Amino acid sequence: MGQPLVDRFARVHRDLRISLTDRCSLRCTYCMPEQGNEWLARQSILTLDEIVEVARVAAASGITTFRLTGGEPLLRTDIVEIVRRLAALESPAGPIEIAMTTNGIRLPEVLPDLVDAGLARLNISLDTIDRERFHALTRRDRLDDVLAGVRAAQLAGLRPLKINAVAMRGVNDGELADLVAFAIAHDAQMRFIEQMPLDAGHTWDRSTMVTREEILAALSERWALTPVPGRGGAPAEQWRLDDGPHVVGVIASVTAPFCGACDRMRLTADGQLRNCLFSIDEYDLLPVLRSEVAPSERAADVDRILRNCIAGKKAGHAIDDPSFLQPARGMNAIGG
Ligand code: SAM
Ligand code: SF4
Repeated sequence: MGQPLVDRFARVHRDLRISLTDRCSLRCTYCMPEQGNEWLARQSILTLDEIVEVARVAAASGITTFRLTGGEPLLRTDIVEIVRRLAALESPAGPIEIAMTTNGIRLPEVLPDLVDAGLARLNISLDTIDRERFHALTRRDRLDDVLAGVRAAQLAGLRPLKINAVAMRGVNDGELADLVAFAIAHDAQMRFIEQMPLDAGHTWDRSTMVTREEILAALSERWALTPVPGRGGAPAEQWRLDDGPHVVGVIASVTAPFCGACDRMRLTADGQLRNCLFSIDEYDLLPVLRSEVAPSERAADVDRILRNCIAGKKAGHAIDDPSFLQPARGMNAIGG
């Protein structure tokens, strides 16, 4: 225990993405089905104490960033306490940072308490600022609630504030520059994500997805784009707009994968460890977390499973390979 989490390709893992629930207040077409979703059994969802137990072992082995996601993480009624307990952990690898990816809907209500509890960074997902399009895309008429969430985030002062959009052909691909302008007006940084084969309906099609090159071409019509060097292990490549203070990010998971620098692992809401968004294998922590053994023995078991998970990590996800198999879970149940 306590040794860094290093895989067969010498990648040191620093980031654990924790999905807190598979439930959501929206039904984005690229993520969840409109109806008939098979929800995780309630009794399998990790409790606050169980999440902290896993995170404590991970922190001791060099995880310093915990990103809370879902489903919609703000639907957890114990979200403030989760942030507070995770923020209080210690790691020999450096200060702990708590980040969150959210659809923003409950932010006006809870953000001050989250910041007080130790939340340091926020990503809000917003694919369109057109109300009807938002309704069609998320199957819920809640654009105003998300916009209120963005304003709350702007006021709360967590920086850099990031707004994420999945670029989709015939949906929001005519709106990309407007989204960047919207983000700038809210002191935020816009990031575009290539759509990945993680929708519950398995409808993703490589030939119709909007690529990084197309995103950059669309933005180039409004700004001169200069690449920002020094990406490190970050998923997003960045470009500076007109040599000014603002940047835009592109997460090109499909056409320009960044697996070589990946330092992330994932914990699903039902206690499955995953070494990749796209992996088929999961490493089940539930039996260990719910066993009656002494806490020190349980921590050793969690540590062993963390290491098995890292040892099984592949070099890359191979989405573009014809043999690629889409994971059985949708994005909402893995944790984006
Ligand atoms: N509900 C929260 C939200 O929407 O921010 C957190 C969970 S969501 C699964 C996390 C991120 O995954 C969002 O930015 C969403 O746009 C992205 N996402 C979901 N399905 C995706 C897909 N098929 N391809 C690319 N990104 C996807
Ligand atoms: Fe919910 Fe986020 Fe999935 Fe949209 S992307 S359905 S907001 S979990």
